[in-house]
Amino acid sequence: MEICKLTTKTIKPRPISDSVYAQLCEVIPGGVNSPVRSFKGLDMTPLVAERGAGDMVYDVDGNGYIDYCMSWGALLFGHAHPDVIAPTIERMKKGTSFGITTPIEEQLARKVIEHLPSIEKLRFVSSGTEATMSAIRLARGYTGKDVVVKFTGNYHGHADMLLVRGGSGLVGLNPESTSAGVTQEAIRHTICLPFNDVQAVKDLFYHPQTHNKIAAVIVEPVAGNMGVVAATAEFLQTLREETTKSGAVLIFDEVMTGFRVGLKSAQGMYGIRPDMTCLAKIIGGGFPAAAFGGKREIMDYLAPLGPVYQAGTLSGNPVAMEAGLAMLKLAEKPGVYEELERKVALFADPVIEHIRKKNINASLQRVGSMLTLFLGTKQVDCMEDAQHLDKEWFARFFRYMFEQGIYIPPVQHEAWFISAVHTDEHLLKTRDAVIQFL
Ligand SMILES: *Cc1c(COP(=O)(O)O)cnc(C)c1O
Repeated sequence: MEICKLTTKTIKPRPISDSVYAQLCEVIPGGVNSPVRSFKGLDMTPLVAERGAGDMVYDVDGNGYIDYCMSWGALLFGHAHPDVIAPTIERMKKGTSFGITTPIEEQLARKVIEHLPSIEKLRFVSSGTEATMSAIRLARGYTGKDVVVKFTGNYHGHADMLLVRGGSGLVGLNPESTSAGVTQEAIRHTICLPFNDVQAVKDLFYHPQTHNKIAAVIVEPVAGNMGVVAATAEFLQTLREETTKSGAVLIFDEVMTGFRVGLKSAQGMYGIRPDMTCLAKIIGGGFPAAAFGGKREIMDYLAPLGPVYQAGTLSGNPVAMEAGLAMLKLAEKPGVYEELERKVALFADPVIEHIRKKNINASLQRVGSMLTLFLGTKQVDCMEDAQHLDKEWFARFFRYMFEQGIYIPPVQHEAWFISAVHTDEHLLKTRDAVIQFL
């Protein structure tokens, strides 16, 4: 119940938010349907959203905030973009779900394949969690092997076998689960290695106990869930080489980076062709849609063609497909990512320069329009580096920004997202607020 206590430290009162949140807490655990929304550790009532428009989100008390959460990266063109909303509303009038195949699924699939040539076939699901979970089952079915390798600090949704924190030693046969309720059995075949550690990968692939048991390696090519930490080219190249040699499936989890860091996503940026890719967030256009796809011969292992079962009542939902298609069409317009880059630089470059000049113990790390301001460390290359961040400093920073009408993700280990509709004026205001605080 502690999480449900109401604001004590915000200056500006938000009486309607307080009361709505108290009501929510009576019927929903922690008052939220996903834990980070609860503002745990910040000592204030969470944001209770009423509506969004462009780069702004408004709470139920009528306060506006410049939004850098952007539905955790799903909204590349901000809230309620007319070119996304209009076709989606038209689609809804024709029926919202059939549980029967529809032509729009092909249109969105072709668009994804056009930009990500490593994907020859794909299947739509409804969340990133479902995409990674299904990709791993498929990789295991295809290879006939059991072991899944992931990296500390990489998040792939909340399927049991991926909820593993540590055990970075070789053959961590008893890796510690990150959640109660996950059985040792469920994570028995999951091995967790440090991110960006080339030697650890090589050691694993040459270890006599594991070298021929690895079904899949799953990685966030630009990690966004420990704060933004780019993989080194050498690290990803090593994953590509070792998985190819051993016959393991290399899965890029591009749920966050897909169509975010560029139209060709992280795999295009690094020039590496994974065997499979997981997508969500942007491809749903603000609706629940996700996908996993890759080589034809792997994908054809799925039922009804092959022996690996996977299904979903709302998979390929036509309303979500329409929104995703509309968003990708916007993203394809010439100059979108160049303009995004200009906007991000407008905000980020002066902050980076300020941190350097004043020798502040902080670091702003960014890849394209995803970025994190780490407080209490000068560089983060892996989760081990991100373990000693200054939580109290972040809580003060968050509240300071909130009071200026700027909403950043309420946890330090998360990415901020700049959308194509953030105005220069708002970015400059944010820049000034950050520099002022620092
Ligand atoms: C958000 C995210 C997920 C989980 O997606 P959900 O839709 O929240 O289930 C998985 N992987 C990465 C890299 C993500 O950023």
